[in-house]
Amino acid sequence: MSIQPPQTNTALETEERLGSGAYALRRLTLVRGEGARVWDAAGNEYIDCIAGHGAAVLGHAHPAVTDALTRQAAQLIACPGTFANETRARLLERLHTVSGFARFFLCNSGAEAVEGALKAARLFTGRAGIVAMHRAFHGRTMGALSATAAPKYREPFEPLVPHVAHIPFGDVAAADAAITDETAAVILEPVQGEGGVHPATAEYLHAVRQLCDERGALLIFDEVQTGFGRTGAWFAFEHFGVRPDIIALAKGIANGVPLGAVGFAAHLPPLPTGSHGSTFGGNPLSAAAALATLETLERERLPERAARLGAWALDEWRRCLNGHRQVREVRGLGLMLGIELRSRVTPLLKRLQARGILALPAGPTVLRLLPPLTISEGEWATVIETVLDEVRQ
Ligand code: PLP
Repeated sequence: MSIQPPQTNTALETEERLGSGAYALRRLTLVRGEGARVWDAAGNEYIDCIAGHGAAVLGHAHPAVTDALTRQAAQLIACPGTFANETRARLLERLHTVSGFARFFLCNSGAEAVEGALKAARLFTGRAGIVAMHRAFHGRTMGALSATAAPKYREPFEPLVPHVAHIPFGDVAAADAAITDETAAVILEPVQGEGGVHPATAEYLHAVRQLCDERGALLIFDEVQTGFGRTGAWFAFEHFGVRPDIIALAKGIANGVPLGAVGFAAHLPPLPTGSHGSTFGGNPLSAAAALATLETLERERLPERAARLGAWALDEWRRCLNGHRQVREVRGLGLMLGIELRSRVTPLLKRLQARGILALPAGPTVLRLLPPLTISEGEWATVIETVLDEVRQ
């Protein structure tokens, strides 16, 4: 693949001029996508291992999602939670079946799902304390940001929500000291994503589960990034045999159409009427996209596929990169993979982009891949080999 140099075009100029400025623009205008490929305005083709920050689990322009959206758009889009709707009801049934959670609050994003989870934990326990983890990323709204760890995201917005403590991820003694009878909830990502692709150990999650149970705190898993097959199971908690009381979901749930969900375990009561709400949350359009996404994930056994493709890539990378002077560690679970370098990752991301592969950072030194779970074996082999080639430069 020969990539043309980035071009100034109308969309890029306009976004630079009228966009908020919040995003570091890659100077690439994406025009269309199909499966694991996207095309830019100059006609260059890329294998997309960003996939809408992990949202497009089925790949771009999946016909099942396109059909579901088209049909629902012609029928009913706006239908708030005060009315019932057949499409939303079918989605709730499906979410219950695939996750085992008893009730769901539907919202529009990952940060909102985390907000809902934190609010519910305070409501159910009557306590204020939240214990979160070092390296955690939970989103950018004030509550979610308060549980996020990185000072660069937090400090410009302080003071944040009080009574949130951060402890080292994986340290049982620190959890033992931090979880008290004033703790409403512990929140963690079973595989930390933005913080560098760090899977938890089963021992740690079991210990935290036990401490929460002993002290009357709720356990929240933020599976916004790890949910819906990403890690090679429907949900990452399945790998560890530990169920949270509350789960936050978004990203892959509707293949990139905005939707989030908070799932509540059966032992928790329903939310009191009026305690939470959302104008758009669970509207029939996003519900239709989610239903089509969940049906396709199940029919095409995509979580299993993610497990197989991810295990192969990890083996290849570990075999070829172990002991390499540029590489600190190779980590991941399913199709959520990271290579921690001994130097900054940005030059590597640029070289990959120039060779037709879009990849993400996870902090300053980690390369992260979140491809669609439908990526073909040939595309995936190209990605893994190109990354190897470039890391070894
Ligand atoms: N939680 C986790 C684990 C995430 O990875 C993200 C986004 O990357 C969020 C929450 C926030 O999601 P959103 O950007 O949809 O608000």
